[in-house]
Amino acid sequence: MITGGCHCGAIRYALSAAPMGSMICHCATCRRVSGALVVAWVSVDPDAFAITKGKPAHYASSPGISRQFCSLCGAQLTYARDDDDSFLDVATATLDDPNASPPTHHSWLSHDLAWVKFGDGLPNFQNSRYDD
Ligand SMILES: [Zn+2]
Ligand SMILES: [Zn+2]
Repeated sequence: MITGGCHCGAIRYALSAAPMGSMICHCATCRRVSGALVVAWVSVDPDAFAITKGKPAHYASSPGISRQFCSLCGAQLTYARDDDDSFLDVATATLDDPNASPPTHHSWLSHDLAWVKFGDGLPNFQNSRYDD
């Protein structure tokens, strides 16, 4: 069982299956919503994700997009598309062991800040990995 939660501990979750993917998103929406330069996400089967403590708040960051976060400490937890229930993204940094889920690529470099440099050698995509 993979576990995680927000900073204050009000929200806890568990994953009953290993993530299907892992990436770093450079998009402007993730940046503003999180207050961070980039946000790393793991993609999971929505059926394998369960909130085990607390009640996350929801925010529609774009039409058809729902993000869950802790209303107490503000930690961003998940990203979901209303029109695609094949995956749920969970913020890698909220996992209890983020080291277990290293990213395989960077997405949305078209939104990137000029001074963000990773140099980790991973593939870069100008938009979504699936749009390029
Ligand atoms: Zn919290
Ligand atoms: Zn993003």
